[in-house]
Amino acid sequence: MHITHYLPRTLPEPLAGLTTLALDLRWSWHHSTDTLWQAVSPELWEETRNPWLILENISDRRLEELAADAGFVETLQRQLEAREGHFKSDTWFASQFGQAFRGYVAYFSMEFGLSESLPIYSGGLGILAGDHLKTACDLGVPLIGIGLLYQQGYFRQALDAQGEQIEFYPYNAPTMLPVTPLMDDRGEWVRVNVEFPGRQLILRVWHVEVGRRSLFLLDSNEPLNFPGDRGITSELYGGGQEMRLQQEIVLGIGGWRLLEKMGIDCPVCHLNEGHAAFAILERARNFMHRCAQPFEVALRATRAGNLFTSHTPVEAGADRFPPDLFMHYFRDYAKLLGIDEQRLLALGRDGVRSDRGEPFNMAYLAFRGAGAVNGVSRLHGKVSRDIFQPLFPRWPAAEVPVGHVTNGVHVATWDSQAADALWTDACGKTRWLGTLETVATDLRCLDDRTLWDFRCRGRRGLVDFLRTRLARQNRWLNTTQAQDQSLDPGFLTLGFARRFTEYKRNNLLLHDPDRLTRLLTNRDRPVQLVIAGKAHPYDDFGKRMIRQWNDYLRRPELQGRVIFVEDYDLVIAAELVRGVDVWINTPRRPWEASGTSGMKVLANGGLNLSELDGWWAEAYRPEVGWAIGDRQEHRNIAEWDAAEAEQLYRLLEEKVVPCFYRRDENGLPREWVQHMQESMAQLTTHFSSNRMVREYTERFYVPLENACRQRMDDGCKLAAELEAWHAHLRRYWDKLYFGNVSAEKCNEGYRFQVQAYLDGIPAEAVCIELYAEAANGGEAVRQVLTRTTPLLGADNGYLYTGTVKDDRHAAAYTPRIVPAHAAATVPLEASMISWYR
Ligand SMILES: *Cc1c(COP(=O)(O)O)cnc(C)c1O
Repeated sequence: MHITHYLPRTLPEPLAGLTTLALDLRWSWHHSTDTLWQAVSPELWEETRNPWLILENISDRRLEELAADAGFVETLQRQLEAREGHFKSDTWFASQFGQAFRGYVAYFSMEFGLSESLPIYSGGLGILAGDHLKTACDLGVPLIGIGLLYQQGYFRQALDAQGEQIEFYPYNAPTMLPVTPLMDDRGEWVRVNVEFPGRQLILRVWHVEVGRRSLFLLDSNEPLNFPGDRGITSELYGGGQEMRLQQEIVLGIGGWRLLEKMGIDCPVCHLNEGHAAFAILERARNFMHRCAQPFEVALRATRAGNLFTSHTPVEAGADRFPPDLFMHYFRDYAKLLGIDEQRLLALGRDGVRSDRGEPFNMAYLAFRGAGAVNGVSRLHGKVSRDIFQPLFPRWPAAEVPVGHVTNGVHVATWDSQAADALWTDACGKTRWLGTLETVATDLRCLDDRTLWDFRCRGRRGLVDFLRTRLARQNRWLNTTQAQDQSLDPGFLTLGFARRFTEYKRNNLLLHDPDRLTRLLTNRDRPVQLVIAGKAHPYDDFGKRMIRQWNDYLRRPELQGRVIFVEDYDLVIAAELVRGVDVWINTPRRPWEASGTSGMKVLANGGLNLSELDGWWAEAYRPEVGWAIGDRQEHRNIAEWDAAEAEQLYRLLEEKVVPCFYRRDENGLPREWVQHMQESMAQLTTHFSSNRMVREYTERFYVPLENACRQRMDDGCKLAAELEAWHAHLRRYWDKLYFGNVSAEKCNEGYRFQVQAYLDGIPAEAVCIELYAEAANGGEAVRQVLTRTTPLLGADNGYLYTGTVKDDRHAAAYTPRIVPAHAAATVPLEASMISWYR
């Protein structure tokens, strides 16, 4: 794939390489060029940390000075060579799968949180996508990001004098963002068209470079569009339902169309949440034409290469569109697919109800067009199996085809410079570029004093940052309150920063404000607390919680002890996770599908105190941190919130604070440092995006690429065969029935004999099994029976036999008939099932 950059500004010849460096967002985590940018403009660097902005704003005179500065030019050359060298070196992916994978993984996401200089994200989902892309670069996974360029991004937050949230929507001038128009071979700006009712929507395409990976961003702000359409990509999660539908059409259909237009072969399409599920339709539509097959066969072929990652923790979380609105935009598209409207609607419905008003559910479409589906933590995998159970009627929830890949964070983005140095000392420079086997052992060799020094420096850095930040907040409010009294670099520092929304229970710590005050203001064991987070503009409950904190922190005895930092974003998140001693998280289980902010403190030596939900439910053990909750969901919310607030206070009062202040004769908190060491050694690598992206690659990208190519080979032979298999099952399934079933005791356990009559279905197309639900903490039993003799007097009936263990009653086993095909994923692709009685 060849990309040419359109450059808004010409630099003096010796400095031409600066553009290359400024446009490569690798600077957001790889800091070797920092000194270079600092040399260009110390002030702008300090203020923005954004090389592209510096390059756009620097005067011609300064550029000439630099061009004449031999030392500067040489440093620049060295950086460019180092960059080339880095990209030539072997990667994990090339060494593992170099030849076994052709083409690219297309990674679709509504938001990407790569850097604060590109504000096209709102929170966890976007940060995850950004970390995924950065890691694909580190590991050499051939992945291309597809997203939208918003003119306004997510809102910026300030607080007024009363502590009320105010929202701003600064305009993202594309020339100030590290993006360039994507040009085609003839030097023209690449555009993609999408059909809207009665009109064409033209989309412009921008290119973002992330190391050796590309992110393509679509944008509707094209002068030739209808005025009303130019704003489709104006705001992230703004506007109403129709705008959301339009954005999702742009992302899914426009995004896939772009890949086709550029001739980029993407056997694997990874949908980061259901927002982009229309890519499934557009991919199948393109393939229909290429292989001259009907839609159903094309879908059968292409779906094998689609991966759907769900982030939704509750049934109501998925995107849905009223059928009339959906059909308004898709009536003509159904014709392009050669299917009728009802069939298209059915792709987004559960198929159980026959309710004409049933909305079109994007997650259902994603299921119907995926070759694999996963949740984002072990617990979320289980929760998702329950949520999507309606798509697999009569299947046990445990067999609903959703696995999990637990999220991880891009450590190089979130660690501090000091953490980077510490980890480099302990484990070497290239630790995040390959597999991570020795990291834990290496880290355990660090001594207590080094670790404690490191922790104290981290906390001091945060206090400095926050004082500057508070001074700025106060300038905006035009109050001149002195801030150097705020915070103390020696106090136990708790952090709580995340979106303000009901399920996050941002105010759980305020359940008993006086008790919290006593905890914070204890003379001998003082504690300070940093709070941050935005509430969605329509979320009144979230805004009320912000107000509640701001009322609380005005208590005179708390001056300088509790801080609310405005405008929570990537920069603030990074500063907080580098400095806090304890990161607190109190979601209402099971709403936190994974959560990632707690993972960001790991490399920096911070500890977690969190609800046993999302990632913490699988990470927690007593030596690495603290937990609240009882691993259950509770119905009586008010009562349970009170109980958990009590747990939270007690943990802080009796465990966390004493542990931090229990010092040995040299002033070293040995037990605390032990926790730090275990948390760093046991958790950092596992909850890194390095592990996550390797898992996606090994378990999904590579097998999906293979499966997809197999189905497409030989003019779609296998896909057509699978489609015929499925159609056949559908046609005859109701006619299957069981005859006699008997079980008798034998030496090995029970011997089952099951008579099954298959009517028009060939015996190879199904499987007869015994199934027993999980019991006594064990796994469910699934025992395939062997087909033996044909039954007399029947066309297509057989006796099936098999033996199971007798550690439970024979009645615990139920015979069932399920679809079977060596190349199909059951029940994801064929959800029929027949039970004996
Ligand atoms: C990591 C991060 C998130 C996700 O945080 P959770 O607490 O896991 O939801 C949200 N916003 C920003 C700015 C982040 O850096």
